[in-house]
Order: sequence, then C-alpha cells, then structure tokens
Amino acid sequence: MKRQWWFLVGMVALGLMLGSSQGNWESLAGPPNLTRDNIQLPPAVRYPLPPSLAKIPRQGEDYFEAVQPVDVGYLLWTQFPVTVAIDPPQWDPNHVWQAAAVQAVAEWSVYLPLEIVDPGRPANIRLLSQRPTDQNHRRARFAETSYELFVDSQGVLRHRCRVVVRPSQAAKFVLGALRHELGHALGIWGHSPLPTDALYFAQVADPPPISQRDANTLRRVYEQPTRLGQRLSELTPHG
Ligand SMILES: [Zn+2]
Repeated sequence: MKRQWWFLVGMVALGLMLGSSQGNWESLAGPPNLTRDNIQLPPAVRYPLPPSLAKIPRQGEDYFEAVQPVDVGYLLWTQFPVTVAIDPPQWDPNHVWQAAAVQAVAEWSVYLPLEIVDPGRPANIRLLSQRPTDQNHRRARFAETSYELFVDSQGVLRHRCRVVVRPSQAAKFVLGALRHELGHALGIWGHSPLPTDALYFAQVADPPPISQRDANTLRRVYEQPTRLGQRLSELTPHG
C-alpha cells in the first residue's frame, strides 16, 4: 500500500525578536498536539553518538538544562548527513546572505555531518531569506526556526526544519542569526544564558562563533532519547 506523507502537527517555532527597550528575546511555543489523530507514538530510543560529537570530551560547561524536549523527545537528527537547502534569496546584494548561509552550515559541519543540497530538492533543513511573519507578537521577528513532524513513506516518524532570517541587515548579523537558528534546527531547542554562546537568547553587537559550551550542549542533546527515526506501530491514515 502506498502511503502519502501527512502532517501530524502544526508548526512550532522559536523566533529571535527585534530590539525593544526591554532587550531582545525569544519565546518557546507550546508543544504540538500529537493526540488528535489517535496516533500511537513509537518508543523513545537513544542513538549512537555521531563520531564528530563523540570526539568532544565529556567535561566542561554546557547549558543543556535550558534545552526543551518536545512531544517526541529531543529534536535530534537520526540520519546523516543532515541535508540543508539554501533557497536563493530574491534580494541579496553582494551575495551577503547566501555566503553567510554557506558559512553557517560549514561552521556546524564540524560537529555534525551536513550536506548542502539543491534548493529544488527536499531537505531536512531549509534556509530562507525572508521577513518572518509575526502573528502573535507585536515586535518584528528577526529570525525564526520552526519544525514539522511527519510520517515518511516507510511509516517512520521524522521531522524537518525551516529557518527564516531577514535579509536586510549587516553581514555579521545575518551570519550570527543563521548560526543561531541552525543551532536550533540541529537540536538545541532552547537558549544559553551567556552572551558568549551562539545560542544566547538575544542578539548582541558582535555575534560570537559557536562556543565550546554550544558544542558541549549539542553533544548532550544527541545523547538523549527521541521517538524520531522510529516506525509508528499503528498508522491511521487520513480518509
Ligand atoms: Zn533562538
């Protein structure tokens, strides 16, 4: 029987807000509703640590306690390389945005196998140069990462991410935002309290590179159990 892909849930997003007198902040949206289709979720399992993360010594600081599991467990990738599509920006003077996207992917590639694929192909993570839509907040969003869960043609629970970063900014802020949001898309679903980390909750004057704390946190995320990558025991297709 040929199954079609179908979505389990709506969109969940982490967004970086633009300036205000209170300082920038991001908010974590509520968990998706996985029960509405009477779906029997697969059990959460731990996967072997990717070699690039296993190399990181199990010591040193992290901010793992700030990372939120979602309904399906931790939001980590279970197949590698993780494919990243960079949608060509409509407006990108001197290719600033495109270059920043390629660099952000290269920086995280130190820690996880990533592969840039043709933007016309399906991808695990899609990077878009757009003005994020702002439905629930009055302040303009600067960048946003969201994910969707779906069941693939083999009946396996999977997710995909969408990263949106505004084009009209200085190069260092575009790169800082793409680096930060890619960190969310790779599994750090939360924020660091320190401005020296790429996953700090606010935009800073000089966005820092990926820190040792960021890397330590990512390693700990990939040590956690998740339901992603597992077959659903009983699938109840729509219709
Ligand atoms: Zn964030």
